[in-house]
Amino acid sequence: MTTFKDLGLSERTLAALEAKGFNAPTPIQERTIPLLIEGNIDIVGQAQTGTGKTAAFGLPIIECAQEKEKRVQALILTPTRELAIQVADEINSLKGQKNLRVLPVYGGQAIHMQFKALRRGVDVVVGTPGRIMDHLQRGTLHIDNLDFFVLDEADEMCNMGFVDDVREILASANTDRRTLLFSATMPREVMRIAKEFMGDYETIKVETQKQ
Ligand code: ADP
Ligand code: MG
Repeated sequence: MTTFKDLGLSERTLAALEAKGFNAPTPIQERTIPLLIEGNIDIVGQAQTGTGKTAAFGLPIIECAQEKEKRVQALILTPTRELAIQVADEINSLKGQKNLRVLPVYGGQAIHMQFKALRRGVDVVVGTPGRIMDHLQRGTLHIDNLDFFVLDEADEMCNMGFVDDVREILASANTDRRTLLFSATMPREVMRIAKEFMGDYETIKVETQKQ
């Protein structure tokens, strides 16, 4: 059985995983984490809900991020505010002792609180497309120096009518970032985004396991 240690994670992250009670990687984690830590590759990950996709992209982001960088190093787009909060919480619980600031950014939350947090400096932003667009237009969020751009639940973001915002945000970010796209299904709209906005990418598809 593959362990998290086999995937090339640091001791600090391994300690956080142990504290969280994650004993072994899920199949999507086992396949994406080493590729993202070692190589400079883009990934399309296709796997059903509940297969551990958050840690599949969250752990490599944590490993690659630098402390005290004073720039947004990773932007994660999610379709809903609940998911933005959930993903931010999961990354916070996986970062262990690493000093990284993770901010969920979504509509309905007082925007001046978000301004304040963004001004103080945030390493990882997890947001919904509408509010991220809002910040970009106001000049309160800068995504021109990202290491990672993650589209989480890309099919849901398209279903919810965010496709134009998502495209605009992708087009506003620096192109030398790495782009990771996760989706349970791969409808044409999602395929088109991958073709247009991603470099050479590897597709990692994990079949749903029978219970
Ligand atoms: P997905 O995004 O694929 O729907 P999540 O990342 O939300 O899945 O993970 C589903 C649940 O499984 C979460 O509660 C998460 O904390 C847990 N989980 C993820 N990876 C592991 C693991 N390796 N071991 C144990 N639990 C895990
Ligand atoms: Mg998920």
